[in-house]
Amino acid sequence: MGPANPWLLSNCRLEEGCHLFDSMFVVLISKFFTRALHHIVIKISIAMLSKKLVSCVILDLDGTLLNTDGVVNDVLKALLVKLGKQWDSKAAHKIVGKTPYEAAAIIVQDYGLQCTIEDFGSEITSLFSDQWCNIKPLPGAERLLKHLRCHGVPMALASNSPRVNVESKISFHPGWKESFSAIVAGDEVRSGKPSPDIYFEAAKRLNVEPSNCLVIEDSLPGVLAGKAAGMEVVAVPSLPKQHHLYTSADEVINSLLDLQPEKWGLPPFQDWIDGTLPLEPWHIGGPVIKGYGRGSKMLGIPTANLSTEAYAAVLSEHPSGVYFGWAGLSTRGIYKMVMSIGWNPYFNNTEKTIEPWLLHNFNEDFYGEELHLTIVGYIRPEANFSSLESLIARIHEDGRIAERALDLPIYSRYKDDPYLRCTLPGAW
Ligand SMILES: [Mg+2]
Repeated sequence: MGPANPWLLSNCRLEEGCHLFDSMFVVLISKFFTRALHHIVIKISIAMLSKKLVSCVILDLDGTLLNTDGVVNDVLKALLVKLGKQWDSKAAHKIVGKTPYEAAAIIVQDYGLQCTIEDFGSEITSLFSDQWCNIKPLPGAERLLKHLRCHGVPMALASNSPRVNVESKISFHPGWKESFSAIVAGDEVRSGKPSPDIYFEAAKRLNVEPSNCLVIEDSLPGVLAGKAAGMEVVAVPSLPKQHHLYTSADEVINSLLDLQPEKWGLPPFQDWIDGTLPLEPWHIGGPVIKGYGRGSKMLGIPTANLSTEAYAAVLSEHPSGVYFGWAGLSTRGIYKMVMSIGWNPYFNNTEKTIEPWLLHNFNEDFYGEELHLTIVGYIRPEANFSSLESLIARIHEDGRIAERALDLPIYSRYKDDPYLRCTLPGAW
């Protein structure tokens, strides 16, 4: 016999029909423990959640809401060529999140430019200004602003850029300026990020305690600034393969599409349907090329790869992750499709690839055929896996999710998208 268990003893007494005192005793003890347990659970829950409950959101602008990196790259590339230098886009991380002056100082020094920081700064500022109208919102930015606005969650914008630039950039996006209860720019505080000044000022203008604020940031200096201000910080790194550097953030997500506001006590998004997020449809297409041979050889999942060279610009606009939609294949027809975009952490690719998997059994390869894709939804961020088996299992799960979702009217109507049909025989 093991040690006596008080609950078993009590139950035995009840079953044996012992007198009323024992029954009352058991009931009282049960109530006591139930209440005690209830209080403990509530206290633990509050302790776990209290750190995360916020009432306001403070957003960074460049690289968080706006896809500024593409424009910055283009401008610097062209300017440095004029100065006899070659822009190294792999070193872009050095200037992300810096003030314009700091960024200019880094470039002047790194490229050994024969000009002052001020002169270089004013030249790139003027070139950038001409491009503000071309900066697109990052995927999920419009959705997030609309969601928070509709639920009355106060928002502030906190950017290292000067006020005039911030105002100019957001002026091209209807409704953005009105969404923010406060806008704090780099020239309105003593020090830019990573100093917490901007975030303290934003909380002050929102009239809330810093601990009630959730910061959303793409850069490391921005994350450090938010934490130094005592705020909860979600990092959305704008540069690839940087997640491991964001150890001070409370959460690191792949893109704004993956933000879960309810984790921070804010209203959840309601637009997910059966494990999928509907997207504004977008297109990509071209001849099917030979990939790495992994699709069919290693995984048993034959992907119809597209050239990344021709579509690098389109791919750069979309976060890595798993998407789905419809595929039009010249000479054959239209098929359901699930695809990954990204660096495929399991294989640690060096370039961003697109690997569509047509959900149909083909008897032969179709390299060289024209493939047009209409992407209509998102399933999940890119992830790493501990084994090839778990990667394969997850890809099949993604396939099942896409297969089911594409029967829903919200997605099935895009099967008639003219973009898919223009590759088919007899089409115009
Ligand atoms: Mg930023």
